[in-house]
Amino acid sequence: MSRDIHIVQLYPRDMNIYGDWGNVLVLKQRLKWQGYNPVVTEYNPGDEFPSAADLIVGGGGQDSGQVVIQQDLQALAPSLRAMADDGLPMLVICGLYQLFGRFFKTHDGVLIPGIGVLDIETHGGPDRLIGNVLSVSEEFGEIHGYENHSGQTFLGPDAKPLALVRKGEGNNSKDDTEGARYQNVVASYLHGSLLPKNPAIADFLIEKAVTRRYGSFDPAPASDADLAELARLSELARSHAANRPR
Ligand code: GLN
Repeated sequence: MSRDIHIVQLYPRDMNIYGDWGNVLVLKQRLKWQGYNPVVTEYNPGDEFPSAADLIVGGGGQDSGQVVIQQDLQALAPSLRAMADDGLPMLVICGLYQLFGRFFKTHDGVLIPGIGVLDIETHGGPDRLIGNVLSVSEEFGEIHGYENHSGQTFLGPDAKPLALVRKGEGNNSKDDTEGARYQNVVASYLHGSLLPKNPAIADFLIEKAVTRRYGSFDPAPASDADLAELARLSELARSHAANRPR
């Protein structure tokens, strides 16, 4: 049986900063360790959307990058919403997190419409929220990462936060929430990149993608040595992140 898993990286040309590309590398590597074959397609404005998509990943970007992709993203909106409703796992960071919501109104007053997968709205403020973040989630435990955004995101009644912030700002400077969750969509402000330091989120996305494609998740048994090395590297990344100054 083929064990292909198709990852679509949304807009890597315009939406890929502070190491966000690393999220795809982590998903690829962990899929291989678990006996699956990752197939990555980069999707940029004007491309044909791949017919096979098991896992969708998108990164952050400057306000100008968000303006560049907005029209193309609107064209994809109905299918992205349908895929999210149907449980397709997605990871969206910062700039694309904002545009998976209702809108991002930049500090300059430019209104960039979102696609409404998430019940959130984002308002650009005069100050950027910058620094290392520690947050805690019921599903994934401690989540470490790095934020740098002017947008302040507020959750509506149909959105739930990914985590609560212990150090740093997260969604905004008013409440303690960080990121958002809907079905199998994980949305976060955290770069750095997110998944090397937070492999539990990678494994959640992988399990959902594989189960949705093949009906069950049967990872190939990794050797004890590989597992020990994997745990050591993740722990190293997490403890470095935890000890960074804000
Ligand atoms: N341009 C957006 C903001 O400043 C997103 C930034 C980012 O993706 N890091 O809020």
